[in-house]
Amino acid sequence: MGKVYLTGAGPGDIELLTLKAFRVIKEADVIIYDRLANPDILKEAKNGCHFVYVGKEDGKHIVPQDDINEIIYQNSLKHENVVRLKGGDPFVFGRGGEEALYLQERGIKYDIIPGITSAISAPAYAGIPVTHRGVAVSFRVVTGHESPNKKESQIPWKNFKTDDTIVFLMGLHNLPEISKKLIEVGKPNDYPCAVISKGTTKEQIVVVGTLENIVEKTNDIPTPALIVVGKVVQLREQLKWFGENV
Ligand code: SAH
Repeated sequence: MGKVYLTGAGPGDIELLTLKAFRVIKEADVIIYDRLANPDILKEAKNGCHFVYVGKEDGKHIVPQDDINEIIYQNSLKHENVVRLKGGDPFVFGRGGEEALYLQERGIKYDIIPGITSAISAPAYAGIPVTHRGVAVSFRVVTGHESPNKKESQIPWKNFKTDDTIVFLMGLHNLPEISKKLIEVGKPNDYPCAVISKGTTKEQIVVVGTLENIVEKTNDIPTPALIVVGKVVQLREQLKWFGENV
């Protein structure tokens, strides 16, 4: 029986991979991976390493999660070093918890290797600090996959009136409803927000706008992309340091 490494691949820039992730990738007999912001990571694997793609895009599962759990489990019976590689951090909307539970129940050993989440690092590469003294005392990372029009939304929209930073992951296709909802709960039309596409990679695109105009400004922007809402977005003007539009 092998061991499974539930591993964060980081947000895209290959140098944001942790040393631990780098080591297990090099030693892996099989790598079970999602769509990664930087597929070059896979080139670090040894000769003979098997690759299994179980991609997920914007929350849409190409392979259902139950099947992914079983694929990881089956591979752990056949291989010594099994790497389950996920974008960003495995426990930030990565379903790493579910996969760990599945292995736990079957007596399979696993390690969790945290990764640098896109929720913080893509804003950082856009020159947007998620907290800033006098501007935002906290930040939230929220799923944008759930439509704000859903009747029994689990998202506490009413709490979003404050100036604390909100980062929506998987939210691009719901951006029209998200921005409308935030205005409905009391944010001004001209409240700052940004969309960051392919953050931390050479193809990073950052679009800054307001809740009112962000949708029209981000037509056709490529995924993966996240949404940052908050006054911290304005700091980009001074703090932008990376990418084309600096
Ligand atoms: N576990 C991942 C998030 C998985 S959910 C993490 O910690 O980063 C997938 C969502 O993450 C995408 O829909 C997008 O909103 C965001 N995302 C991932 N990589 C990104 C990147 N390089 N730039 C912008 N957004 C990214």
